[in-house]
Amino acid sequence: MTLRNILIHPDPRLKKVCAPIEAVTPEIGALAEDMLQTMYDAPGVGLAAPQVGILQRVFVMDCVKEEDAPAKPMVLINPEITWTSEEMNTHEEGCLSIPDQYAQVTRPKMVRMRWLGLDGKLHEEEFDDLWATCAQHELDHLNGKLFIDYLGAMKRQMITRKMVKLKRESARD
Ligand code: ZN
Repeated sequence: MTLRNILIHPDPRLKKVCAPIEAVTPEIGALAEDMLQTMYDAPGVGLAAPQVGILQRVFVMDCVKEEDAPAKPMVLINPEITWTSEEMNTHEEGCLSIPDQYAQVTRPKMVRMRWLGLDGKLHEEEFDDLWATCAQHELDHLNGKLFIDYLGAMKRQMITRKMVKLKRESARD
């Protein structure tokens, strides 16, 4: 297992629509393992392949919050939304590609998603609350969309300027 380098916004690879995965190969399995490891290490509750520079449709998540609860690592390949609730929910979101920046984003409170698992089988499950927010946030990544795209232009530009500065400073170190 290898920790992968997480891309920081702005990066053209974070703005790309990712390609479907045609087969669950051992390489995809290894990528998913690396992504989970990278996500837990960060730490974060979700990570999409483009965030580690791989432009393919897969993301990982684990939104278990209780310290003593068992981890629930999930790997979603070619995920699709099959249903969304009319009820909306506002959560404060952050992103491993936009460190230390948080904002309120409103999305459907519940979603049903269908995806291909590492077992090569189709899965379908309903997600609620934090799981639903996370799943939608990660699916957005596969379509080149970031949570800051839901914010007003001023706020988005302010965050982007901060990230440009952060990248410039870390490049100097
Ligand atoms: Zn993100």
